[in-house]
Amino acid sequence: MYNQVIKRLLCATALTFSGIFVQAQQTQVKEPKDVPAEWSKPYAPFRMAGNLYYVGTADLASYLITTNAGNILINTGLAGSLPIIKRNIEALGFKFKDTKILLTMQAHYDHMGAMAAIQKMTGAKFMVDEKEEDVVNSGGATDYALGKGVSTYQPAKINRLLHDGDTIHLGEMNLVMLHHPGHTKGSCSFLFDTRDSSRSYRVLLANFPTIVTDKHFHDVTTYPEIAKDYAYTLQSLAGLQFDVWAAAHASQFNLAAKHHPGDAYNPAVFKDRAGYDKALAELKAQYEKKMMEEK
Ligand SMILES: [Zn+2]
Repeated sequence: MYNQVIKRLLCATALTFSGIFVQAQQTQVKEPKDVPAEWSKPYAPFRMAGNLYYVGTADLASYLITTNAGNILINTGLAGSLPIIKRNIEALGFKFKDTKILLTMQAHYDHMGAMAAIQKMTGAKFMVDEKEEDVVNSGGATDYALGKGVSTYQPAKINRLLHDGDTIHLGEMNLVMLHHPGHTKGSCSFLFDTRDSSRSYRVLLANFPTIVTDKHFHDVTTYPEIAKDYAYTLQSLAGLQFDVWAAAHASQFNLAAKHHPGDAYNPAVFKDRAGYDKALAELKAQYEKKMMEEK
């Protein structure tokens, strides 16, 4: 009995001390755990089109773009996605260490989770939309919708701030960053050309403007441009021309229906303009419904 009391007291003391310790450490990260299982499920990597490869988990899309001067990695999943992404890159025959540039389509923990660790391991330069600077430096703590003052990912060091229309250049590749705000203040898409032995492809990696906040837009005081930004992004995405497309989540471009692990190389399955237009129409309807409710 006495021992148990002592044990409990010791535990309580330890908790109190660790609580103080947490408060003193500004970069303490608390990644949400109540997330879909698909986010952490390993997925066999594959070549999508030309030198674009899918290296993410079953739902958190990570893209590897190989060049003759090293590779570009877009999106890094959750913190625990690191070994999956690394294994996927190596399974394709590429070197993890050859990762030279790191990008994200949005500064949320499900795409930024492993960013700082990968940067540390590879020495790659992290480039991000200028409007994400503050939120990245806070590890997501200042995000207008998900922030709540808690860091949900380890902040990566920003090496370059990107502006709408900026080009990211590595080897023979040139990626154009398109500022597509709303979901986060600095969400973005990437547009680039790639080729295989038979033809070239214009690729769009689209960041869909899904709505995160439960609040009325006019109540989101830390993001006064939110309604305008969503409208802009919906219009911009609708006007883009491309040969193949994909998105930040596999479910957003219906990867499960287009590709099965082990399938032969077939970029044509990622054309799907109809699927793209349908997804955008649904997002536009959600936006318009929300705007109606504001009145
Ligand atoms: Zn997000």
